[in-house]
Amino acid sequence: MKLRFLILLFLLFPFITSVLAQKKPLQIIMIGAHPDDCDIKSGGTAALFVAMGHKVKFLSVTNGDAGHMKEGGGMLAQRRLEETKEVSRRLGVSYEVLDNHDGELLPTLAIRLEIIKRIREWNADVVIAPRSNDYHPDHRYTGILVQDAAFMVGVPNIAPDTPPLIKNPVFLYFQDNFKKPNPFQPDITVDISSVIDKKVYSLDAHQSQFYEWLPWIGRYENEVPKGQAERLEWLKKLRGSGINPAVKSNLEKWYGPTKAGQVAYAESFEICEYGSRPSDEDIKRLFPMLEK
Ligand SMILES: [Zn+2]
Repeated sequence: MKLRFLILLFLLFPFITSVLAQKKPLQIIMIGAHPDDCDIKSGGTAALFVAMGHKVKFLSVTNGDAGHMKEGGGMLAQRRLEETKEVSRRLGVSYEVLDNHDGELLPTLAIRLEIIKRIREWNADVVIAPRSNDYHPDHRYTGILVQDAAFMVGVPNIAPDTPPLIKNPVFLYFQDNFKKPNPFQPDITVDISSVIDKKVYSLDAHQSQFYEWLPWIGRYENEVPKGQAERLEWLKKLRGSGINPAVKSNLEKWYGPTKAGQVAYAESFEICEYGSRPSDEDIKRLFPMLEK
């Protein structure tokens, strides 16, 4: 009897482990240079992960203390920290801001070790960060810092006060429009049409940015509407659909041509060569919204 039970358990073992694996929430960490970068690049994908019971953390490598035309320093950093707390409430993500100056980020060893620790502590399955092709030095160096962490998260002698990850996560890049030396290549594209209003609502929490600083530096201050509903509508138009021809073609890969043709808003990601290299099956497991 006991033997029969053991044989049954043995036969069912792969099934049991796969069910348990599916039950365990995915751990996603998105790393941006400023306390609104992750929200802009993948707030919709984050909302979809959260709705499916997975865990998402946004990490800002700088405190955003240079992102304003009238305010600055500690007061601005504090205001922006409060805005990230509001994003946590609106989007259901964890949000952490590292206390490095905005506009002065360098890819130092000290910050690399901080990032390695955060990726390990989050026990990340997926890490998403900017490419190092970007107009903003903080974005470029955040890209470099995360690439520099990609192999090291598994090396026990590096940052030895946190245990190394047993499995290297999949590292991805956020979508961008920079062409040189090479354009962004969409490998994974998520239809965020169903959560676009949630994403825009999370951007709206960054009042200091979307209604003050970005319109000032972009010279469109007089276009910012006054009312809340008008602002949300305006922000939705301003941030665009994210769908260019390359993204459209990748949407077709994941959703089929009919459904891809109906997608109004999307967020796309490129696979970084330095982490785990996922198969299409791995991607479907790590991005379960692609199956919906
Ligand atoms: Zn930024």
